[in-house]
Amino acid sequence: MAETHYDVPTHYDLVASPCWCGCTASRVIAERDRYGQPLTTVMCRACGTLRLDPYLTPEDAGRYYADDYLRPGYNQGFAERFADRANEQQHLRPLADRLAPGSAVLDFGCGCGGVTHGLIEMGHRVYGTDLSEAALDYALGTGLLPHAPGQRYDAVVTYHSVEHHVDPNQTLGEMAALLKDGGLLCIAVPLINRIVAGARPSGIVGELYFPHRWYFSVDNLDGLLGRLGLERVWSDFETTSIYRKTGRATATPPGAGARWRAAVRLRLINASPTLCRLPGVARLLWRMRKLA
Ligand SMILES: [Zn+2]
Repeated sequence: MAETHYDVPTHYDLVASPCWCGCTASRVIAERDRYGQPLTTVMCRACGTLRLDPYLTPEDAGRYYADDYLRPGYNQGFAERFADRANEQQHLRPLADRLAPGSAVLDFGCGCGGVTHGLIEMGHRVYGTDLSEAALDYALGTGLLPHAPGQRYDAVVTYHSVEHHVDPNQTLGEMAALLKDGGLLCIAVPLINRIVAGARPSGIVGELYFPHRWYFSVDNLDGLLGRLGLERVWSDFETTSIYRKTGRATATPPGAGARWRAAVRLRLINASPTLCRLPGVARLLWRMRKLA
């Protein structure tokens, strides 16, 4: 399938805001997106997370996702989007392997559904929620159930959604609160970790486009979710990770390790996409990070 081209919207005023970790200091990584459109991506100087800055305000993000992002005909039809997501169900297999029969699962930011369809076929009860009412209506027509306020879940799936969120502290906090104790959060985002493996020949710039706001490493997610009382139980270090709700918030600050790992990866990629695919090179540079 041809890659969908997303325009940078011109009818919203973009505003600067801090990293999820609270740090306002950053350095500019790129000033173009993958399509060559003007778009500023920065790296947090404290934790190494990449973000678009400036970005939509929370109010405008609500409008953008309700009206623009999944509007039929704007980029993809709902049926096509459902089918694309249904083709990616294998990413939820590690979660399915950890679910008891008949589990209650929330697909948070479900869009048109699809990725959790296999869980429904396995007999789990899958609920959905999304900012786009039209997309959610489509998803409910494919077998998802409507989320009811006050309900708690054995698992929450957030599949390629958090990288769009203006404030992931808030939305991931909501997801943590919706989990039962010991419940599982399955989060899929475009992890920085995969870039070092040469997933995009053009390196980091090949990843960047609006409206992806965040590019996390697994270290970044560990810090962000640890503060919310979740600890990692599994990751593929490319997109998908599983965290368990422990209820014990860790005060793990986003450390220098995360910062340098991200910095080294980015320098490596900027220097040579071919070099970054050679076995052992990334590991060697990570070990040299003290010299960076
Ligand atoms: Zn940060």
